Amino acid sequence: MITLEKEKLQKTRAKTQATGMVENVLGQFNNAADQIDLNPNIRRILSVTTNEIIIHFPVKLDSGEVAIFKGYRVQHNNALGPYKGGLRYHDTVDVDAAKALAMWMTWKTSLAGLPYGGAKGGIQINPKLYSQSELERITRRFTYALGDNIGPEHDIPAPDVNTNAQTMAWIADTYMSTKSPSERSTYQHVVTGKPVGSGGLEGRDRATGYGVYLCIKLWADANNISLKAKKYSVQGFGNVGNWAAYFMEKDGAVLVGVQDAFASIYSEEGIGVEALFNYANTSGRGIKNFPNTLEINKDDFFSIDCDILIPAALGNQITEDNAERIKASLIAEGANGPINAAGERILLDKGVTIIPDILCNSGGVITSYFEWLQNRNGELWKLDEVIAKLENKLRTSFQNVSRTAEERGIDMRTSAYILAIERIEKAYVQRGIFP
Ligand code: GLU
Repeated sequence: MITLEKEKLQKTRAKTQATGMVENVLGQFNNAADQIDLNPNIRRILSVTTNEIIIHFPVKLDSGEVAIFKGYRVQHNNALGPYKGGLRYHDTVDVDAAKALAMWMTWKTSLAGLPYGGAKGGIQINPKLYSQSELERITRRFTYALGDNIGPEHDIPAPDVNTNAQTMAWIADTYMSTKSPSERSTYQHVVTGKPVGSGGLEGRDRATGYGVYLCIKLWADANNISLKAKKYSVQGFGNVGNWAAYFMEKDGAVLVGVQDAFASIYSEEGIGVEALFNYANTSGRGIKNFPNTLEINKDDFFSIDCDILIPAALGNQITEDNAERIKASLIAEGANGPINAAGERILLDKGVTIIPDILCNSGGVITSYFEWLQNRNGELWKLDEVIAKLENKLRTSFQNVSRTAEERGIDMRTSAYILAIERIEKAYVQRGIFP
């Protein structure tokens, strides 16, 4: 396919789900800020993003043509430390999406007790339309164009939707190549989520999904519930969805429904996670036509009879249009911002428990922090050490959120936000505002 056709396709596919996302994250923030009577000056500061970087950059495609791409990096707040957050390659990436996602990162890193702020970015692109070597050139040229807007002590990207360890390796290599030879090796921690062997951390790949499972397990234990034979569904079968499903299955839960960009499938008897993973990776059309499952309508996915629902795809998936139909009593947010405000109200009224994204999917950025420390200190951590430290941090966060929710008689999201905001508020109160 020639470039211009690709570009046209990309543009027609681009849809802005983003406006809703900014409203959503600000609504969540203001709701928590009201509860604690947040200082109005600090509310004002946290309601806006500090830097919004938009870059158009040219890349030579396999056909020889040059295409112009649009990349974003939005830095929300760095009161607690360097900006931190992923880069996603998706049609829906635009400045508003990056703004909302950057804000979620600030709350997430604060709640986890990490010395980081929040950022997010990416490229408005459907990566499936490009070859591997085109993706490499796009990534490298984007990194070059970002220049010192990122940096190991300034803003540290990581994988997100449609980016992975390979993408991070290209970014690290490109960034380091622009530095003087004597400094080069000290810049490895400009990104996290790198391949093990190139500064990456053992276990980083599964950490987000494992964290989602761990939160579900902590919730189940707290409520004297066994996960054995519990039915669960997963929306999105990327890195987060498939690892979460893997650990749920290991604990005896039964995967009954999956939705990805290609299809929605259902099986009352259960879907084998590993078989589905292998199939989806080679089919060229995701989970579509996976044997022994029933293909259901996209809109029927949320009506599936299950105990636990794991949205692990994009934002704004659960809304007033489908929340009423959800049968699960627990929703564990693997994705960022999967439920909008109206959808959430319906769910909370129905008595559904929601483990919020900034807690539920924080395993990724927590292990990113471990990778960053590993690189900074010239260490190589072992997998069991990584898992033990991750469990420790997540358990603490989970218990803090649960306790605050109970004490204040509020839902887990509001509780998580309160803890996240209070930590940032404290830093501002201690330091004051320059000048
Ligand atoms: N993209 C992931 C997130 O949304 C990971 C971010 C990171 O590790 O910096 O939390």
